[in-house]
Amino acid sequence: MERKLFEQLVKDYNDELTHSGVNGERLAKRLDELSKIGLMESGGVTRPGYSAEEKQAKELIIGWMKSAGLSVTTDGAGNVFGRLAGKSEGPAIVSGSHVDSVPNGGHFDGPLGVLSALEVVEAWKETGYLPEKPYEVVIFSDEEGSRFKSSLTGSRAFMGQMKPEEMDSLRDEKGKSFREVLSEYGSSAEECLKAGNSRREIETFVEVHIEQGKVLEREDQPVGVVKGIAGPASLEVTFTGEAGHAGNTPMAGRKDPLVTAALFVAAIEKFPKQVSDTAVATVGKLNVHPNGFNVIAQEVKLIVDIRDIFEDTRDRLLDIITNEARKIAEERNMEVQMNLNAKIMPLPIEEKLLTKIADSLTKFDIKPVYIPSGAGHDTMIVGTEIPAAMLFVRSKDGISHNPREWTSLNDCVYGVHVLKDFVEGLMED
Ligand SMILES: [Zn+2]
Repeated sequence: MERKLFEQLVKDYNDELTHSGVNGERLAKRLDELSKIGLMESGGVTRPGYSAEEKQAKELIIGWMKSAGLSVTTDGAGNVFGRLAGKSEGPAIVSGSHVDSVPNGGHFDGPLGVLSALEVVEAWKETGYLPEKPYEVVIFSDEEGSRFKSSLTGSRAFMGQMKPEEMDSLRDEKGKSFREVLSEYGSSAEECLKAGNSRREIETFVEVHIEQGKVLEREDQPVGVVKGIAGPASLEVTFTGEAGHAGNTPMAGRKDPLVTAALFVAAIEKFPKQVSDTAVATVGKLNVHPNGFNVIAQEVKLIVDIRDIFEDTRDRLLDIITNEARKIAEERNMEVQMNLNAKIMPLPIEEKLLTKIADSLTKFDIKPVYIPSGAGHDTMIVGTEIPAAMLFVRSKDGISHNPREWTSLNDCVYGVHVLKDFVEGLMED
């Protein structure tokens, strides 16, 4: 495994892309070093939010930030900011992403955005460029939310959108509350809630991220423009029935919540197309209690993930699905409880920023391709109050959240060049 990612990355690298201070080999080395933190035998990586691995990844990058001359601060949500002073004071241009991962995830989702933002600083350092405005590289905590079945924790805290009740209601699989996890991490619930107060003035936020889709591959372009981000709603549904012995309980009169859940899951599939072409709804996780092969379940808890790039259609779909859960539970004489774990506004990107990114792409002979993002990103949260933009970098076969996630070093470096040009344009505005 040793240096495997580095070797794979540099194998097909076009050295001519190393110019203007941007260094492909340095980027590859850093992706490689990060990939070793939480590395699995599968070749994938497991770095859940607020784990020792996520912390170690942040510490590694903090070291790089400091040697690049950035002054580093961390807020109560564990978000890391590396700041480069500008020639003048005033609102900063901020770029970054996350370093946590889903279980057995890939090496590009998140790290590429953080390291691209940092590579811009390295390039400036090499060429002696001094930005007009302050520039910050950010690492947001717990973007994937795989631990608490929530997500975007760091960016939500930074934007003052974390709610006090989440501190105790969010629990990981072992039943540990978010409050407890935060204190183990070296922060506290109170400090996390205060993260929003320490928010500095930001002029524009921009995130580089792998596409996790196949549009750029189809269009044969290394980098594209995100035109809008679908906002997910995460609906937790719990059906409660009556546990019983699988052998001794007659079929008549059973209250089996697993059968109810199955009917509900099957029904969901037909709803998205009733609201829009881009809407989607998914159940990817069921918790069956007590989960015994010869026991009729007592309770089934599942999460419906509902998304669209338009708020009205997403909310209509959420209503339809909520009503369906109630209807099926009533028909089957069963209790149902619903809890909206997260409901995030879809984010359309400002026209002005789309045009600027398109201009930057054109400078590198890249045809601007506009892509809606089905996945949620920190940009979506930051963008609720701050002008925000996003660049997608081509993903091989669109595979993501998987050890086989792959983006060529050439494409990664194109992403850095476009980001750098875009940010330099913002500096001159
Ligand atoms: Zn990501």
